[in-house]
Amino acid sequence: MLHCTFLTKVISFFSIAGLSLVACGQPVASPDAPGTMPDTWPLHAVTRTAITAEDFAYRISTLADDRFEGRAPASGQGEAAARWIADEMAAAGLSPAGENGGWFQGVPLIESTLAEDASRLDITVDGQSLGLRINQDIVYWSQNPEEQVNLENSGLVFVGYGVVAPEYGWNDYEGVNVTGKTVVMLINDPGFADPEAGRFNGAAMTYYGRWTYKYEEAARQGAEGAIIVHQTAPASYPWGTVQASWTGPQFTLASGGDQNRVDVQSWIREDSAIALFDAVGLDFSALAEAAMSPDFTPVEMTGAQMNASLTNTIRTLSSDNVAGMVKGAVRPDEFVLFMAHWDHIGIRLNFSGEDQIYNGAIDNATGVSAILELAQVYAGGDAPERSVIFVAVTAEESGLLGSEYYARNPLVRLDHTVAGFNFDGMLPIGPTADIVVIGYGASELEDILAAEAHKRGMYLSPDPNPEAGYFYRSDHVTLARRGVPMMYADSGSVHTELGAEYGAQIETAYRLQAYHKPTDEFDPAWDLHGFVQSTELMYDVSRAVADSNVWPNWYETNEFRSLRDKMMAMRDTRRP
Ligand SMILES: [Zn+2]
Repeated sequence: MLHCTFLTKVISFFSIAGLSLVACGQPVASPDAPGTMPDTWPLHAVTRTAITAEDFAYRISTLADDRFEGRAPASGQGEAAARWIADEMAAAGLSPAGENGGWFQGVPLIESTLAEDASRLDITVDGQSLGLRINQDIVYWSQNPEEQVNLENSGLVFVGYGVVAPEYGWNDYEGVNVTGKTVVMLINDPGFADPEAGRFNGAAMTYYGRWTYKYEEAARQGAEGAIIVHQTAPASYPWGTVQASWTGPQFTLASGGDQNRVDVQSWIREDSAIALFDAVGLDFSALAEAAMSPDFTPVEMTGAQMNASLTNTIRTLSSDNVAGMVKGAVRPDEFVLFMAHWDHIGIRLNFSGEDQIYNGAIDNATGVSAILELAQVYAGGDAPERSVIFVAVTAEESGLLGSEYYARNPLVRLDHTVAGFNFDGMLPIGPTADIVVIGYGASELEDILAAEAHKRGMYLSPDPNPEAGYFYRSDHVTLARRGVPMMYADSGSVHTELGAEYGAQIETAYRLQAYHKPTDEFDPAWDLHGFVQSTELMYDVSRAVADSNVWPNWYETNEFRSLRDKMMAMRDTRRP
């Protein structure tokens, strides 16, 4: 038997560390010889009723292990990861909070996979093909779940940022009818390129900057095709991320088919876009510049046409949200919610190396581990006054589908949900002086967070990359859009000794080198003490809410405030 004290010293050696917890804890009956991995998979180690770096290492490394194959929703190994999470919730002492008294909430999905060999997309200028190579120069797919999608001779129109925002006095579709056409758009919003000009929310991305919005608006305008020009800075991710995210199976929710979508959605590489503009006699940079002005008008790309024939394999599938709870001792029908997505993007073609498993260690084995740590502390101590519910949601990477399904079919009423905390993509910076609030300035939860942070000698930092639009890129937003006060603050940015520079380096390296790539893997050298620190802080904040009878609201000026007020007014009238 390997020696326990020795093992706790080499805790960074995660495969051994996992074993040491089994060996030093008690009851897991394992016949394995000393020093070998148990042949039963997945591994369940004994963990502590405290938030610890060792438990984080064990849970992150297990969820990010190659054997879960990148946790694609509805895949065999993805759903095995969901079962592993349910087992961990049970071991932590939660009671099941899913459907029919179980741990799961079935999420019906439609999977559509483009048959690349049987599909084509061609842009011609005056009949001459640009010869765009699939995945190299253009990535395309259809979100209409149909086996055959065709687009014939669809004329191209450049519509700037593709934004219609009456509150900013902005309409990129002014004076043009794009019915049946293919719109070409820039990513992000007009505030990004020149933050000083005070357009939109300056450098901070608004929902108008998101690709989801752009395709939605194109569909509302009657377009049949949509092309977003990829540029790394305004997108905040490189072309490789586009390749990884939109090739292979694409998912939509099977229920609530309320979305009207364009037939063909696509991203084009910036250099290919420049070539296209050149071919029709337009200057891309001049037009991109013009698109920043409210006076911009759409420009027909005369002579350019898109033809596409997409063959898709359609399957209906089911994935699962995983849910467990601790019942409140005083007000059990009021809930504090914890949320983290368990899915990642599975096994995909990788254009820059051998490894094809997208492990998603940071995104989002870290967040799931954080809510499991919190679950264990809540279940292991005195019951909180209000109930706490933990939901590991699926299909976030496919467009926030698991949390969207939860928001449409909540396991506990949204007007009984006091507040929610989302965890997604915690960065292993180490101990920090601060905690970063994504979407800073949103709700009274931040006042509670500030007070609790202050007790620990920490302070709040606003989102350091508001231009990347992270507030619109994770699961809390599906509930925020219904009115529920949600906070997304799961790690800091200013290292206690090495400062902000160091934190920024780690963030940039992750964003450019590992985000949505096979290199998002667990590294035993990570300093996990920052995870412990911020998760303990989020425990304090959530506990302050769970042990009180306050209903924190969105700030008066927030876009979600009126929704919450309406919801709560309705709730009050329903009371006996
Ligand atoms: Zn994520």
